[in-house]
Amino acid sequence: MRLQDKVALITGAASGIGRETALLFAKEGASVVVADVNDAEGQETVRQIELAGGKAVYVHSDVSKAADCEHMVNTAEATFGKLNVLFNNAGIMHGDDDNAVTTEEAIWDLTMGINLKGVFFGCKYGVPALRRAGGGSIINTASFVALIGAATPQIAYTASKGGVLAMTRELAIIHARENIRVNALCPGPLRTELLMNFLNSEAKKQRRLVHIPMGRFGEAKEIAYAALYLASDESSYVTGTEFVVDGGITAAYVTPE
Ligand code: NAD
Repeated sequence: MRLQDKVALITGAASGIGRETALLFAKEGASVVVADVNDAEGQETVRQIELAGGKAVYVHSDVSKAADCEHMVNTAEATFGKLNVLFNNAGIMHGDDDNAVTTEEAIWDLTMGINLKGVFFGCKYGVPALRRAGGGSIINTASFVALIGAATPQIAYTASKGGVLAMTRELAIIHARENIRVNALCPGPLRTELLMNFLNSEAKKQRRLVHIPMGRFGEAKEIAYAALYLASDESSYVTGTEFVVDGGITAAYVTPE
């Protein structure tokens, strides 16, 4: 198994990428800390892992709150004895996030608080735990919109993901000699609740689909497999990267018919 004896903490693990990754990591031998604000669905992730014979625990954690992030890391160490993998994955894409003129300050602050400050808090409390474990892997979920501009405006979201990318590079350099690797995962458009709720009409979905060379939305599981590689020792020489899993969208100028 690829994550035998490892302990992984995954934020936003009640849904989408986070849940698929939690299930996959557990299948590959990891003990998983499922962190989220959606208690019912977070506990459902744990139930599914346990049903399949894996080990997991749920912890309520709003990643925009320092005390919650400290608590989730403490929970990992208290329950499973250590922390080896930190997947800062929780994020939102608010329906009122639009262009610079129309987006309210409150939406900007909310988005930054979860998507960007949440990653900072994860690392603030996670890095000391990884040090105590002798090193480890941090994976931060950014997005393809951190690399190219999207024609459907989501100014706060895009800016937050650009911040995640920049922060990831610096973290990778600062902690490289501590055996802590830090990589950003840049998913393309996925068929998860987050994006399907945002692209809430067929016309909006088609507008996005037209840019994807593969002609389809990605699946959360396709991101989970990338996270598995970055979490495992197979990626032991990989740090500071923008790991793109996007159906070719960032490579495309014009997509095939
Ligand atoms: P999702 O909505 O299915 O899951 C997100 C999870 O985060 C939910 O369980 C939600 O409850 C949780 N969450 C929200 N606010 C939180 C908070 N304050 N604290 C803790 N948990 C919180 O979305 P997803 O598509 O799986 O997205 C996961 C990550 O991937 C996000 O960071 C998102 O920005 C990123 N991403 C998604 C896409 C896409 O197309 N879906 C593309 C690129 C990047």
